[in-house]
Amino acid sequence: MVEEIKIITNPIVNCYLLKTGDTYFMVDAGVSFYRGGLKKALKQAGCRPGDIKLVMITHGDYDHTGNCAYLQKKYGARVAVHKSEAGALERGDMFAGRKNKQNTGLRISQALFKPLFFRKCKPDIFVGEGDDLSQYGIEGKIVHIPGHTTGSIGVLTGEGYFFCGDLLTNSNRPEKNKLVDDAAEMDASIEKMKALGIKTVYPGHGRPFRMEELLKKNP
Ligand SMILES: [Zn+2]
Repeated sequence: MVEEIKIITNPIVNCYLLKTGDTYFMVDAGVSFYRGGLKKALKQAGCRPGDIKLVMITHGDYDHTGNCAYLQKKYGARVAVHKSEAGALERGDMFAGRKNKQNTGLRISQALFKPLFFRKCKPDIFVGEGDDLSQYGIEGKIVHIPGHTTGSIGVLTGEGYFFCGDLLTNSNRPEKNKLVDDAAEMDASIEKMKALGIKTVYPGHGRPFRMEELLKKNP
């Protein structure tokens, strides 16, 4: 049972710290330049090195993965990701987990941001659709939600909390992420979400929102 969810926000992205008993889990690792803020937030939460069991990475973009290697090394965490995102974590290749190799905006972003933000990490575990998280000590499962990237995953807990990565954002209202790799897959992933009995959605960018908000108005 997830007893507490701490939102660790930095100027551009959220990562989440989940507490179950004496164990902590994270969803995403945040951007590398925010390491000081992350360390402080973990300390404030009572999470010490060795206490994080698993970091579940929703997808391989730099703003979500920048502290993966740090959390592995300092906190003993294992890093779990869909295998399609491995190239992004290991080589900083933002196209590794995307079908559209011609996206000029993304190419420019990669050229600009990779030297600044990319921190190499070797994932420990590959996860995919339906994987049961109870083997790691947390009640929940992995939901494959491609669209923003091929290997995007969501984390659904037993309480109905859903961590959607960059499928949806909520800066002003719940909406589709503007960076789309496959529009049809993105729509299908959102439809899939609607059938999961989700109560609250925790996005990579913006504030958490109730699932009803999404059902009231299609993003
Ligand atoms: Zn992203």
